Amino acid sequence: MATKTLPCSEAQLHEIIANYPTPFHLYDEKAIRANARRLKKAFAWNEGFRNFFAVKAAPNPYLMRILQEEGFGADCSSLPELLLSEKVGIEGEGIMFTSNDTPAEEFVKAVEMGANVNLDDISHIDFLEKSCGKLPELVCFRYNPGPLKGGNAIIGKPEEAKYGFTREQLFEGYATLKAKGVKRFGLHTMVASNELNPQYFIDTAKLLFDLLVEIKEKVGITVEFVNLGGGIGIPYRPEQDGVDLEAVGEGIRVAYEEQILGNGLPPMKIYLECGRCITGPYGYLVSTVRHLKHTYRDYVGMDACMANLMRPALYGSYHHITVVGKTDKPLDHVYDVTGSLCENNDKFAIARELPEIVPGDILVFHDAGAHGHAMGFNYNGKLRSAELLLREDGSVVEIRRAETIDDLFATLDFNGLETFK
Ligand SMILES: *Cc1c(COP(=O)(O)O)cnc(C)c1O
Repeated sequence: MATKTLPCSEAQLHEIIANYPTPFHLYDEKAIRANARRLKKAFAWNEGFRNFFAVKAAPNPYLMRILQEEGFGADCSSLPELLLSEKVGIEGEGIMFTSNDTPAEEFVKAVEMGANVNLDDISHIDFLEKSCGKLPELVCFRYNPGPLKGGNAIIGKPEEAKYGFTREQLFEGYATLKAKGVKRFGLHTMVASNELNPQYFIDTAKLLFDLLVEIKEKVGITVEFVNLGGGIGIPYRPEQDGVDLEAVGEGIRVAYEEQILGNGLPPMKIYLECGRCITGPYGYLVSTVRHLKHTYRDYVGMDACMANLMRPALYGSYHHITVVGKTDKPLDHVYDVTGSLCENNDKFAIARELPEIVPGDILVFHDAGAHGHAMGFNYNGKLRSAELLLREDGSVVEIRRAETIDDLFATLDFNGLETFK
């Protein structure tokens, strides 16, 4: 069971709202740090273990700085994400550049920064070499294992996913790198998203460890790190259990000792690229009820909309809702909780059992700390909200201001209208 509590008292939340108008995202620094330490501890057996926080999950420099302080690197997939990392001071091998359909200038920047470059396709070996003039010292490949048992709703079946090398391409690719004089190698895969079963990650590691033994035999190279990607899920629903990170770490340790050390391979670093499980549960979207509407259904209209949290509209995802001040009231009403977009899928919840709601109530949407604010957009002229950080000492700082109408219009030249015929 995942407990869905607020990161501060209701009184403090009201105080925050008095200073910062809703809607806003609120992140809990203390919980983020504790969770980062827990993940590191689960893999403490592996010298060189590192999680590269997937920047796309929560691209805020303050959150990245907190994670940098906790020893995390950054997983980037675009030029702006690289630049954001640079501004935070995460550079060199603290960066994993895992991109796809990559433009030349992004490879150039990644190599310039000394990042671990992870290639999505065999044709990118030549493309990278041409773009940068030469290949970097270290190159990683993203492996797509193809038809696997299972698969998963968000990424789907690996064989239908656009990412990565086939098995054959992997061997050919490493042989090419070796022939071209590349000395350092990495192997990456990511086949799950929001997966709650710890065995999934252990099985993925086993698959890669087997592959490494074969690569060593057939190509004669030693891979220095295995990057298991992100995808560790979080319990969005209260009845779900979070991933037992300790069990994942321990299961991978046993497989590592048997398959890597047991086969005489030298020690190797384990990397992860988790985003969701790092900040997801520790970010909250706080919003005020504007209107109640009773037609064929009962609707709660919020001052937030899917521009602030798109997952329910995009994936039909569940986000737990706390109605502030009413946690001990019976859930004897059924509401669709909506935003103000002219899109009928702009709903945070459909037919959700909640206590009776009135205009002015504060609703907190849980587990919005990853792929939440980050997915925001401006359709219908909606503005992205502020991001606030609840510090360990209980103080609150604004780590991103809310967008303004001037921000929205910044790309338009209204003066041009005067001479436009
Ligand atoms: C999205 C993504 C991640 C992070 O996934 P989470 O579900 O947030 O852990 C990591 N690596 C790659 C390549 C991704 O595309």
